[in-house]
Amino acid sequence: MKILVLNCGSSSVKFQLVETDLERIDRNEDRLLARGQVERIGTSEALVYCQAGERATRDVGLELPDHRAAIAKVIALLQHTGAVSRPEDIDALGHRVVHGGDFRTSQLITAEVLRKIEDAVELAPLHNPHNLKGYYVCAELFPDRPQVAVFDTAFHQTMPGRAYLYALPYDHFRRHRIRRYGFHGTSHRYVAYRFRQLSDRSTEETNLITCHLGNGCSLAAIQHGRSVDTSMGFTPLEGLVMGTRPGDLDPAIVLHLMAKLEMTAQEVSTLLNRHSGLYGISGETNDMRALLESARKGHERARLAIEVFCYRLRKYIGAYTAVLGEVHGLVFTGGIGENAPRIRELSCENLDQLGYVLDTAKNNQAVGVEAAISTSSSRVEIFVIPTNEELLIARDAFRTIEGIENP
Ligand code: ADP
Repeated sequence: MKILVLNCGSSSVKFQLVETDLERIDRNEDRLLARGQVERIGTSEALVYCQAGERATRDVGLELPDHRAAIAKVIALLQHTGAVSRPEDIDALGHRVVHGGDFRTSQLITAEVLRKIEDAVELAPLHNPHNLKGYYVCAELFPDRPQVAVFDTAFHQTMPGRAYLYALPYDHFRRHRIRRYGFHGTSHRYVAYRFRQLSDRSTEETNLITCHLGNGCSLAAIQHGRSVDTSMGFTPLEGLVMGTRPGDLDPAIVLHLMAKLEMTAQEVSTLLNRHSGLYGISGETNDMRALLESARKGHERARLAIEVFCYRLRKYIGAYTAVLGEVHGLVFTGGIGENAPRIRELSCENLDQLGYVLDTAKNNQAVGVEAAISTSSSRVEIFVIPTNEELLIARDAFRTIEGIENP
């Protein structure tokens, strides 16, 4: 089955065309037919990139007023690069949807499912409306093709109450749905699955801590294949230090900013979403690669930003070790987790008593590839595993359409 996976943001569309079926999934041999992205949608300066096998095209300065125009362009490029000979060759669509409310698994999009996703818009107003645009455009372009929604939140729906409840008046949970949801679920689920394959362990006998470190960052504690805790919360603001978000902070700081500095809710939201985190501390950039370079050159606040980032991460690894009791694997993924040995090293510093011992040489060599990076004496196996959310979305779409339960 050829599945077009779409990840629609406010002004971008990332896509992959994946051919998959049960045999390919079993052998981990799904075929990536094409991948690419459209940026700056809504302007006359849009750019599009598409790679299909050896063929790659890049267009700049395009007039793409909306997501409909952008997705139509993607379909045209898939034909142009030979990834499909006609649009009808696309058998199904898989959509990344950030917030799935109470959904525990990926869903074939029916009128009822759509209503529930619309219902979750109030919980993720910055993401879900754009994710849904992909669905609506494809419903027009491919009226007879099945479409599946794969949610960032679904994997974490197995968390127990003690992990997802905030200690607020209970009515806020019951009436206003205020609880920990967690995000990046597709990534945590994918690397957990790959860890079990690479280390030849069964789901039942494996406890894992997975660290997704990209622009957004989160950890998950995974017990026997089920997420039992995660660091992002009601929104993706909580938890680890991120590119431009602070992660955990005393909520009274927000009240203080509003009372003392007379900041509006909108201004505080901008401060927390765009001006904090690595960028806020360094005053320079949210880009970890650039920060590591700056720190090497002696830029003090770059060094400090990295230190705060790694300290928070180490604290969470310790906390989740306590949550799980026994940990078999620690996985690093996301742009930073996959490519920054120094960050992994600092984050595992002084964790040997807890069973985490990095092999320095292996760690330094592991950049952008699947690799084991712990010593043979480390109680916990530590791995770098590049994430592949699009692949998991394609597989989920296939299995959902075929009526096969998603693992
Ligand atoms: P997103 O969450 O937007 O998908 P990514 O997963 O691509 O982001 O991660 C982006 C982060 O990864 C940036 O901070 C970037 O600097 C960092 N990164 C990418 N490559 C490297 C590298 N070689 N060394 C250090 N950091 C890197």
